[in-house]
Amino acid sequence: MTSPYDPDNIFAKILRGEIPAHKVYEDAHTLAFMDVMPQGEGHTLVIPKAPSRGLLDAEPATLAALIASVQRVGRAVRQAFSADGLTVFQFNEPAGGQTVFHLHVHVIPRREGVALKR
Ligand code: ADP
Repeated sequence: MTSPYDPDNIFAKILRGEIPAHKVYEDAHTLAFMDVMPQGEGHTLVIPKAPSRGLLDAEPATLAALIASVQRVGRAVRQAFSADGLTVFQFNEPAGGQTVFHLHVHVIPRREGVALKR
């Protein structure tokens, strides 16, 4: 089972404008911003504005808006970084690798022969 949503997580603070972020896309339901510790050039995070901890507690409408923004941001970073491909991943709970407990999707443009960091 997942734990309850913590409204003091760092991405909730970004959504409330309490801490800065390098925002690259925003619409009514989602926000995208650059990862502060990028695993590759152009590493972007896409989050819903709805207070979801992870994939398992999110509403279907939240997921629909999120994946549409992932596609939009993916197309944009692919073009902006002249990428050959795109890596998209998402972690849930500490055992699943999650460290920030607001649902987010990693979007990383990829170049042939260039490995991810970390
Ligand atoms: P992991 O840390 O193992 O990648 P997550 O999927 O929870 O697990 O990813 C959290 C991501 O949030 C990390 O890539 C981290 O670099 C990024 N991050 C943490 N704090 C900030 C911040 N203030 N602004 C942008 N990105 C952040």
